[in-house]
Amino acid sequence: MLTGAFTLLKLAKFTGTKKAKDFVPAVVEAYSAVLNQLNSLGAEWLQLDEPALVTDLSAEDIALFNELYSRILSAKGSVKVLVQTYFGDIRDCYQALQALPFDGIGIDFVEGKQSLDLLRQHGFANDKVLFAGVINGKNIWKNQYKQTIALVREISKLASQIVLGTSCSLLHVPYTLKHETKLTATNKQYFAFAEEKLQELAELKSILAQADPQTSALYTENEKLFNTSRLTNANAVQNRVAALTDADFTRLPAFADREAIQKAKFNLPPLPTTTIGSFPQTADVRANRAAFKKGSITEEQYKQFNFDKIAGCIAQQEEIGIDVLVHGGYERNDMVEYFGECLDGFIFTENAWVQSYGTRCVKPPIVWGDISRSKPITVEYSAYAKSLTHKPVKGMLTGPVTILNWSFPREDISLKDSALQIGLAIRDEVLDLEANGIEIIQIDEAVLREKLPLRHSDWQSEYLSWAIPAFRLVHSAVKAETQIHTHMCYSQFSDIIRDIDAMDADVITFEASRSDLAIIDSINECGFQTEVGPGVYDIHSPRIPSVDEIKQGLGRMLGKLDAEKLWVNPDCGLKYNGPKRLTHK
Ligand code: GLN
Ligand code: ZN
Repeated sequence: MLTGAFTLLKLAKFTGTKKAKDFVPAVVEAYSAVLNQLNSLGAEWLQLDEPALVTDLSAEDIALFNELYSRILSAKGSVKVLVQTYFGDIRDCYQALQALPFDGIGIDFVEGKQSLDLLRQHGFANDKVLFAGVINGKNIWKNQYKQTIALVREISKLASQIVLGTSCSLLHVPYTLKHETKLTATNKQYFAFAEEKLQELAELKSILAQADPQTSALYTENEKLFNTSRLTNANAVQNRVAALTDADFTRLPAFADREAIQKAKFNLPPLPTTTIGSFPQTADVRANRAAFKKGSITEEQYKQFNFDKIAGCIAQQEEIGIDVLVHGGYERNDMVEYFGECLDGFIFTENAWVQSYGTRCVKPPIVWGDISRSKPITVEYSAYAKSLTHKPVKGMLTGPVTILNWSFPREDISLKDSALQIGLAIRDEVLDLEANGIEIIQIDEAVLREKLPLRHSDWQSEYLSWAIPAFRLVHSAVKAETQIHTHMCYSQFSDIIRDIDAMDADVITFEASRSDLAIIDSINECGFQTEVGPGVYDIHSPRIPSVDEIKQGLGRMLGKLDAEKLWVNPDCGLKYNGPKRLTHK
């Protein structure tokens, strides 16, 4: 199994004047050498992963693909080559794939909206094997056999050799349900983690082998699950979502008026300083949380430790001279898991870790039912922090899109409805913070971009059309003088910059130190109204920039941005860093 030549070139970044096509000879040579070697070792199949094929492809892309593979496959020998695609359909290159001498083509029938239609329209070559992704490799719910069997029946009419598989690799789901001791038996019967998905494939195979699948016990048992509702709760949350009107998504007065009111109220110095929320999660902070979880300290002791930490954190920020303070987030394990734990409707696993980015892993909450908030979550700690200082203290929340994107979502209601449910819960929290004297509230949408569809034509219709409103819902009811911040993390924002402005926050802080301030140009071009805090240093790097370097960066920002709109802050929370990072003024 290897990353395919096309995806490799599509995801590579080229410096200087060289382009993808300049590397064709070298790439062809390298892949041909691998094929040769596999042949001499007697390998049967080589899978080449080509997820880039499910994105919007230009004629030039397709020409590149054709050139690469007509050359690579020209001397492929006896090893069979499977071109594996996933995360969508291959509408732009379906026929190109059929025409090339691949032995197998892997197609995603879960996320590939047009996959079945493509097969119907163009057929499927008789000499190729269709690797059909029919079990969702990205979510943890059991497969509904009735639907999958109907799908496989359709596919069988169109392709003669079929292999059943998952829609994508299993690295997006946790390993096994086996060791989950705290989930109820009821919960567990609805889930299939990676190992259980393999079991599902085996079961589907055995059901399909029967003359009348409907009579199979495996089939009827599975169907029973889907015929009865998992949920017993009243429809209060769904009714609240259904009753939302345009006014609930519109904050008044408009940005410019609010900006003037807030400038007069807070009277902050030019280039106000703030941080993104979390302070270093030192060993004692973690030990305190762990001890409370284990039951070895009382709730009172647990909280007192956090109160003392907050007091230290506020004192430190005052001493440094920061303008807008934070409470430090000592009570939070993770920006999503924490809110999941405090809201009703989520459930949690003990071991269901998945890779997030790089070597970082997260344990996503599972959206089990309708989401609601039964009591305030962050008010006590934020209000305590506020009581210790005359400076403004920023309340700190995670937004609905980020909470949903880093959870395993339901499949029985839409992502939009789940986002609005979470949005309403966080909105209640925002209003409680405001009522308790918190005048600045940050609502993080760190991974807003993460679930942006791969195809441009789906961006608005399938995602931004509800994701941006879900954020607006959270803050639309606050007073004009309450300042709403948001924060976003590493990702390319330039192409959705207008949508980010349409979130209608008062201030946004984001990563800029690593992307060479390119984003500031897009901000300028689109007449961005939201005030901005492009991070002045990269908190994920152990390198501490000098004061001069930071000054220079700010100088460059000031050359491009209105000084009235510029904030000064690190590019993300200080959670992962040693206490040293704070001392730069
Ligand atoms: N407010 C969060 C923090 O400071 C944001 C974390 C993030 O963006 N990843 O930790
Ligand atoms: Zn961040």
